[in-house]
Amino acid sequence: MSEMTFDKQFFGRSLASMAELTEKNRDYWTKLDSDIGDGDHGINMSIGFRAVSAKLEENLENAEDITSLLKKSGMLLLSKVGGASGPLYGSFFIKMGKDITGQTEITFSDFVGMIKNGVEAIQFRGKAELGDKTMLDALLPGLEYLEAHQTDSNPVVVLEEAVAIMRQGAESTIPLIAKKGRAMRLGERAIGHKDPGSESSWMLINVFLEEMKTV
Ligand SMILES: [Mg+2]
Repeated sequence: MSEMTFDKQFFGRSLASMAELTEKNRDYWTKLDSDIGDGDHGINMSIGFRAVSAKLEENLENAEDITSLLKKSGMLLLSKVGGASGPLYGSFFIKMGKDITGQTEITFSDFVGMIKNGVEAIQFRGKAELGDKTMLDALLPGLEYLEAHQTDSNPVVVLEEAVAIMRQGAESTIPLIAKKGRAMRLGERAIGHKDPGSESSWMLINVFLEEMKTV
């Protein structure tokens, strides 16, 4: 079997599916955020991904490589999305492709490196750590698994397990006190609620998995 590769269209389809996912989960993510935050997560994400979706065809055409497509989309999220999630997800997509400039096709190992760059960008901007009740509680454990298994023979199986770990990571935020964001002010009242960003982040990574199943 030849090595699985992913091209610009793969990322274009993923972004389109992320926009659909965001619409479907708009109210759900907003509900999670109204439990412990300011109740705008789903609304903000929807505004951002509608902008990504509206420009997607044009960006796909004008982007000379995968890096550029992701950067253009990340810039839209950064500029259109309010709250904490805009800058965080914006930097994820902006930084994802920084090591694959010029490439129009990548391997699964490249993909793992992209997730790493994106997660590090979130970490850099948000200054959060594992256990702070943020999206990193979902992303970091999944990334660790991806890095350990990036050369395994079946990328879909590896990503499937990583997404399952991320989903568990989102669940793991429920009993935590928040050390970042608005939920911090709630102190112990944040206990019993899932962090909205941790939920949206595993669900967005899951979109890559669903797209990989069709490659
Ligand atoms: Mg909010």
